[in-house]
Amino acid sequence: MRSFFLNHKMESIIIKVGTNLLTDGKDIIYYDIIEKIVKQIAELKNAGKKVILVSSGAIGCGMKIQKIKERPSKLEQLQALAAIGQPHLMSIYEKIFNKYNIKIGQILMTKEDTKDSIRRTHLRNTISELIELDILPIINENDTVAVEEITFGDNDTLTALVGLLMFVDIVIFLSTIDGLCDCNPQKNPKFSIIHEVQKITHEIEKLSQDFESNLSIGGMKSKINATKKLINVGIPVVIANGTQDNVIIDILKGKIIGTLFLPEK
Ligand code: GLU
Repeated sequence: MRSFFLNHKMESIIIKVGTNLLTDGKDIIYYDIIEKIVKQIAELKNAGKKVILVSSGAIGCGMKIQKIKERPSKLEQLQALAAIGQPHLMSIYEKIFNKYNIKIGQILMTKEDTKDSIRRTHLRNTISELIELDILPIINENDTVAVEEITFGDNDTLTALVGLLMFVDIVIFLSTIDGLCDCNPQKNPKFSIIHEVQKITHEIEKLSQDFESNLSIGGMKSKINATKKLINVGIPVVIANGTQDNVIIDILKGKIIGTLFLPEK
């Protein structure tokens, strides 16, 4: 067990789910995974926790609708796919959250929205109001007007910005990897997971070298960059495998799952 979770209250939680976790980028959406995540969020909300979901998957859903098997390289094609896929993604969430009597609200934002103080205040107020109304905010980048997360982060950077904005108790990044590996898992099958990181050293950064993914752009590198921003202000981060049953609940119970990055302050 991780004593950290016994000593720190986790009342406000951001969960980020990546494209690779939710879709295969061809014509398959992993409804079973979405179900698993929704069920856990429902459990947290029923326990009175304040939850924010940051979800990628718009482009993946757009690819499914348009029956496109390979992720295009042109930005405007990706942006159009996101525009096509985002309402579909939200309709999937709405349908599944409905079963748990949870209402959702969509927030499409960009990095720029957190730079300007007036827009930042509006954004914070809206998210706070949704939480106050017991609505689950589901955030994605507004891919029509910004391309940062399409080209680099798969919403990892955006998640960090929301974490800083709302000053949450913890951020959990869920993808298809078990956590930070002690070597490149694609080159060395005998890798093991580093379960706790006290400080993001140069060595840790080197371990986060991205490995190829043909569907989404984010990877360990963008997660580590996002994590640095969060732990620097005192927000702990866990990177874990979202395909595992009960992963979010188990992390919050203190089970040793994924990589925990301890806050620096
Ligand atoms: N906003 C994008 C989406 O929802 C980010 C993920 C990606 O680049 O695949 O699809």
